[in-house]
Amino acid sequence: MATLSRTPPAEIRRRLRKEVNYGCPICRSPFLTWHHFDPPWPQCHAHKEEGIIALCPTCHQQAEGGAYTNQDLHELKAKHILEPPLGSLPWHIKSALINFGGNFFFAQSATIFSVRAACQEVFSMRIDKSGYLKLNARIWNSKNALVLRLIENDIVSYLENIGDLECTAQARKLSVVSKENDARFSLEFRRANPDEAIPNSSKLFHKTVLDKAPGLARRVDSDLKLRSGILIDADGLVPTIAMEIAVHGPGFSIDTTMKGIVLDLTGLGYDRAVMTSKFVGEHAFKLNFGNEKTGYRELVHLGSE
Ligand SMILES: [Zn+2]
Repeated sequence: MATLSRTPPAEIRRRLRKEVNYGCPICRSPFLTWHHFDPPWPQCHAHKEEGIIALCPTCHQQAEGGAYTNQDLHELKAKHILEPPLGSLPWHIKSALINFGGNFFFAQSATIFSVRAACQEVFSMRIDKSGYLKLNARIWNSKNALVLRLIENDIVSYLENIGDLECTAQARKLSVVSKENDARFSLEFRRANPDEAIPNSSKLFHKTVLDKAPGLARRVDSDLKLRSGILIDADGLVPTIAMEIAVHGPGFSIDTTMKGIVLDLTGLGYDRAVMTSKFVGEHAFKLNFGNEKTGYRELVHLGSE
């Protein structure tokens, strides 16, 4: 007989997260696990939603140890919590390979990675005093209202605009969807083997392109291998972050949830631009606008400074 996983199905998990307004009802940590208390998991091996509560790993352990009565936990499930969840990404990184809409960017201590449009910063990684990279993000919905912010790794959520917020217990994944389903943001972190993490020419170009230019693949692969040394951490692994964004800033939108990076600048009187698997390395993609009289303003910036 197949054994049932202790993790409840996705739909139940989604409702349990919403029930506690996306944070542990005891300490408000957004990193959640699932505590089967009525009946306890060993007795039933079933997912009875009325008897499961979302708790952070620490409060979950304490609940398993008998810190709360079943009545306490039922009361916590019924409580309408208005306080936003509060937690911080624990990633301790000095460099990172960022996969952003199929484009690969290198972020490392000597430079700063950022995504900006129309002079508004959407995402950045900045170096703190101890030399580690800290994440910052501003995710707006189509009414330009904030759904989520990251401030130096701190997760700040705007509950009135959130449709779902998921932070896995091991903190490898953070994802948020707006209430109207018009904004999305997800970050997935892992330390990967360099051979597997660092993109090679076959990931960057179509086979037809490589067949036409056989020297290209060799050149790209050796160049990437050489330069990607900066990404390797003390354990010989490459910290990698896969990022998806669908965000609406004032006058622009950026969407990577389809294919490539789609920049819509029609709100500012410009066109829509689509970028697919073209950029790799430390350097930034930049677009400026203006003229000689008025001077030039930055329109788009993707990559390192
Ligand atoms: Zn807790």
